Amino acid sequence: MKRVFILGGTAEARELAARLHPEHVVVTSLAGRVKAPRLPVGAVVIGGFGGSLGLARWLWEHPVDVVVDATHPFAAKMSEAAAEAAGMTGIPLLGLRRPGWTQEPGDDWRWVSSLEEAARSLPGKRVFLTTGRRSLPVFDGVPGVWFLARSVDPPDDPVSMEVVLSRGPYTLEGELALMREHRIDSLVTKDSGGELTRAKLRAARELGVAVVMVRRPPIPPEVPYVETVAEAADWVRATE
Ligand code: NAP
Repeated sequence: MKRVFILGGTAEARELAARLHPEHVVVTSLAGRVKAPRLPVGAVVIGGFGGSLGLARWLWEHPVDVVVDATHPFAAKMSEAAAEAAGMTGIPLLGLRRPGWTQEPGDDWRWVSSLEEAARSLPGKRVFLTTGRRSLPVFDGVPGVWFLARSVDPPDDPVSMEVVLSRGPYTLEGELALMREHRIDSLVTKDSGGELTRAKLRAARELGVAVVMVRRPPIPPEVPYVETVAEAADWVRATE
């Protein structure tokens, strides 16, 4: 039996907890950004640690054998802090990152390195934003562009955009209907990867909608990474 600490906030983190519990003692940590998060099985702690030192302190003060960083591919600060805390404490750390999306024939994708670059290079005038509520101020007020923004919770501050609140998974039919209804001509998305939100990309292809794809931030080079929950579960079981 291992004591496993999962940095969560993703479907993969919940699946990993479900695979390991109750054979192992599992604690999942969430940032607390979403008002009503989907909770994993096992114990849950909510709220940050205060950077890498805070996380290292938490790991010293609690019984933890291994850590899995199963945060979202764009949660770069947390992944960096996890790498530093693992270095300080000597506790084995694995990163779990689902693969990014790949372009298919008929796709019209433009890759950018940041949300700011996306806002500077919008290819259309009726833009569907799926980059999360905290990204909206970056786009709000771009002249001559109408925005439809989709997020789980409402924006923190008012924005002059149409906002639709929902949480995936999404279907192709639903995405086609939403994009047609709002006469969307371009879509901005992070390269999150995974199946739950992939339908928007196929809908964009079918409708000839241009996609602005934000590249993933780099992963800490000193941390081993796997792409599937099964590989992460095997690593937990095999790690001494
Ligand atoms: P971030 O920029 O890397 O982290 C910002 C701060 O939030 C961290 O410094 C940490 O605070 C706290 N934090 C992040 N993940 C945490 C976790 N799993 N447990 C405890 N504290 C955490 O991350 P983010 O992009 O804000 O994402 C926050 C959470 O939402 C993550 O759990 C991520 O998996 C999930 N999520 C993110 C996205 C996205 O697009 N970024 C999408 C879906 C889900 P302290 O420094 O105080 O420790």
